[in-house]
Amino acid sequence: MAIATINPATGETLKTFEPLNDAEIAAKLDLADQAFEKYRHTSFAERSQALQAAANILEQEKADFAKLMTLEMGKPYKAAIAEVEKCAAVCRYYAENAADFLADVSVKTDASHSFVRYQPLGIILAVMPWNFPFWQVFRFAAPALMAGNVGLLKHASNVPQCALAIEDIIHRAGFPGGVFQTLLIGAAKVADLMADERVKAATLTGSEPAGASLAAAAGKQIKKTVLELGGSDPFIVLESADVEAAAATATSARMLNNGQSCIAAKRFIVAEAIADQFEKLLLEKFTALKIGDPLHPDTDLGPLATPDILQDLDQQVQTAVKSGGKVLTGGYPLADRPGNFYPATIIIDIPVDQPIAQEEFFGPVALLFRVPDIDTAIQLANATPFGLGASAWTNNDQERDRLISEIEAGAVFINGLVKSDPRLPFGGIKRSGYGRELSIQGIHEFVNVKTVWVK
Ligand code: NAP
Repeated sequence: MAIATINPATGETLKTFEPLNDAEIAAKLDLADQAFEKYRHTSFAERSQALQAAANILEQEKADFAKLMTLEMGKPYKAAIAEVEKCAAVCRYYAENAADFLADVSVKTDASHSFVRYQPLGIILAVMPWNFPFWQVFRFAAPALMAGNVGLLKHASNVPQCALAIEDIIHRAGFPGGVFQTLLIGAAKVADLMADERVKAATLTGSEPAGASLAAAAGKQIKKTVLELGGSDPFIVLESADVEAAAATATSARMLNNGQSCIAAKRFIVAEAIADQFEKLLLEKFTALKIGDPLHPDTDLGPLATPDILQDLDQQVQTAVKSGGKVLTGGYPLADRPGNFYPATIIIDIPVDQPIAQEEFFGPVALLFRVPDIDTAIQLANATPFGLGASAWTNNDQERDRLISEIEAGAVFINGLVKSDPRLPFGGIKRSGYGRELSIQGIHEFVNVKTVWVK
């Protein structure tokens, strides 16, 4: 895949980049390695000061960064602004809390003094996706850099300018040279990087094949990985729920980022008793969305990031229809304009035993299923290979407790939209990946948890 900025709203190639050659990659690895030897000895106060400065830059220049994201991958401008603000928040969160999260923890044993000490590992490789081009990187970088690690970023090939802008922000914030570098390289170079003795661990956010490939390369070298992969998150609405509120949130939950979010609600599992009402409300809300230029402040739904994603989504919708699904609205790419536009789409009546019912739809397509009771709702919610997040709506305490304990996912949100929050761990189970980002759990992923015993 070429490393280039191609505007998804017009199809126009705005800028192309030469990938780094082997000598350039080697020079960046050398620099990262040298940087780590000094950086590992910096204090939390020094790291925190630089990360706070990064937060300030993000806030001051958010309009520019938001525009860049929208130009490269098509998210609505207002969502891009919110993304930059969230990056500033995660920087401040770790700047303020990392020293506590990584302080020695005393443990009483037969030693005169025993404790746990957290120490940095070294160079961590981050392989990142285009869908949240700033957020995915900052939620890795903020804890990793506070822990004293150094980062190498291999960003998705369609967001090279975002990748370079992030490197520049971290440099301008005052982090020493080499502590965080962007590598403009294709995916084929990732296995070689994992084989380099100086790269100690890696994190990847993206598709299952990419995650499996990175984990295999890391496994050969006995190196740790964190994987944040796909999802086919359920959105369950039971009879006792506030159906109006559920339908409003369902729309945001599905349309977030033009439908291209790992934790977007993708399968709507609705109790038969309120299904007509929910379906009608959802249809009204989907058809009211404004599709168009993502830079326009009123746009709700912009283009998909690449022509391949558009094509894959179109194929999935056709398969869903061939499998017995009925399209209530949308269902075809918008052919009357350039760019990768796909309208808000609702598909009902796909038989639950069809393979397509378990797939991840990475775009603005909602699959709606009717269920007779909570048992069937939970069974259907769990009937996918994924386990990232789940949103469930009920006003019954017993139902709530069952949903919390029986849904197989890394997160369950009751009466709310699944979202990431710096204070809460984020990650999946099953084929959605392993390990956690954010919160205290996130910063503990890439450290040596050293046991110390002294007599
Ligand atoms: P993707 O193709 O897997 O790309 C993600 C990153 O992995 C890119 O940097 C890509 O580089 C790289 N990559 C691709 N194949 C690779 C390989 N064999 N070895 C090493 N690196 C490789 O993912 P996508 O299609 O852009 O993103 C959509 C997927 O990501 C969805 O399934 C979505 O659910 C998931 N996602 C998950 C989360 C989460 O937190 N769980 C968040 C966002 C997205 P190139 O661009 O150069 O190919």
